Amino acid sequence: MSDEKTLFERIIDGEIPGDIVHEDEHCVAFKDINPGAPVHILLVPRKPMPRLQDGTPDDQGLLGHLMLTAPKIAAQHGVGDAFRLVVNNGADAGQSVFHLHLHIIGGRPLKWPPG
Ligand code: AMP
Repeated sequence: MSDEKTLFERIIDGEIPGDIVHEDEHCVAFKDINPGAPVHILLVPRKPMPRLQDGTPDDQGLLGHLMLTAPKIAAQHGVGDAFRLVVNNGADAGQSVFHLHLHIIGGRPLKWPPG
């Protein structure tokens, strides 16, 4: 893994600005700078795991925590009944920041399948 901080570590560490909406011991959430929907929040583990396949059995609790935290953040933003969680995992799947993150998207009807 690179020693260089990821963009999201720099936001978490306050080195570049982020519109932070949630922080706890394990993760931080902030608004996506280029929202694709009225609610578009990125939920990011403090631990900079690049992709899901870089996780280990030790990360099971952390990954579960993300899944349990996302609906709470969605509810706080008024979309608790209908939201989408997206992990773009790998460049060909649209990943551009290689620090695992969940997109929490809602606030408009969402089509399936995504593009
Ligand atoms: P992905 O393409 O799945 O890796 O998602 C990366 C997301 O990070 C994109 O939706 C970007 O709009 C978002 N993003 C990039 N830079 C920033 C930033 N400085 N603050 C908040 N979101 C960002």
